[in-house]
Amino acid sequence: MAVQGDVSEHVDALKMSMQALKIDGTAVTVRSTEDMRGISGLVIPGGESTTISRLMLASGIHEKVLELAKKGLPILGTCAGAILLAKEGDTQVSQTNTKLLGLLDMSVLRNGYGRQADSFEADLKITEIGKEPFKAVFIRSPIIEKVWGDTKVWVRRQSEIVGARKGNLIALTFHPELSGDLRFHMYFLKTILDSSRIKSR
Ligand code: GLN
Repeated sequence: MAVQGDVSEHVDALKMSMQALKIDGTAVTVRSTEDMRGISGLVIPGGESTTISRLMLASGIHEKVLELAKKGLPILGTCAGAILLAKEGDTQVSQTNTKLLGLLDMSVLRNGYGRQADSFEADLKITEIGKEPFKAVFIRSPIIEKVWGDTKVWVRRQSEIVGARKGNLIALTFHPELSGDLRFHMYFLKTILDSSRIKSR
């Protein structure tokens, strides 16, 4: 989705990941519901959740995402995108009238690290993507406060939840597109491939 935020970094990471995995696909930038025709996965990038949400509502993308998610569309939300996937937010979310998609059973604290830790890096261990730690970049990131129902904790940084998922819906509070490490994008592309294989059976 390309209404606002760090779009080009995700596009580059997706292109390089498709090349590495020998997937014959295209990364399209979504600015309208027409752009969503025929997509097999969606990335909601980092940026300003308030602005992205406003533009998603005005363009009809918000409704379209909910419709496609119901049909099983794999979605990766990073940082602001992770906020938008959540069901519940804190007062910063409600006071800005940010309309969340509510696709993941989780609550988020917007700008959860506060001002003193605006941005930082952390080594994360996620067995699904490989043995080597992933150098994750956090920029004014949210914190996932809690998850419930079918939504599971996927990635932790010490005791904090920095990644959650429910089937094909994945939320990461950091910026996987800024690490020069394609493993999360490749993992997401494999999720897309697996889900389309299951559907076509
Ligand atoms: N703090 C931003 C927000 O609330 C998210 C930051 C980011 O995506 N890098 O929308």
